[in-house]
Amino acid sequence: MPDRKAKLELLCIDRGLKMTDQRRVIARVLSESSDHPDVESVHRRATVIDPNISIATVYRTVRLFEEAGILAKHDFGDGRARYEETPDEHHDHLIDIQSGKVVEFHNDEIEELQRKIAEKAGYRLVGHRLELYGVPLDGKAERQK
Ligand SMILES: [Zn+2]
Repeated sequence: MPDRKAKLELLCIDRGLKMTDQRRVIARVLSESSDHPDVESVHRRATVIDPNISIATVYRTVRLFEEAGILAKHDFGDGRARYEETPDEHHDHLIDIQSGKVVEFHNDEIEELQRKIAEKAGYRLVGHRLELYGVPLDGKAERQK
């Protein structure tokens, strides 16, 4: 394993979390995954590096990272929690309900529209969650990748 520290590991150190070898592996796996993996996928990837990591440890570690605010948890409607590093810049998600693939997007018009809706109702918007669910148009999703 290269010595370069993963972004999540640095954030853990920054927040004073005690880093065990197993936590370090899980942090690395999460930092290197861009597909919003669930706990089982994280576990599968972590055991390639350290076969002794149990699924219970992955659950505990993911919860710890989430509570520290460095990992974002998503519910994409299939009952499995999925995770990504807390992003620096806000984005929303489009979920392919056939493959489970997650596409990230940001749209200024949507952001502005949401702000206006909240304002009209008498609120200053401080956050939102937006998930779009779709199936690929014939052949098109692949081409645009
Ligand atoms: Zn994302």
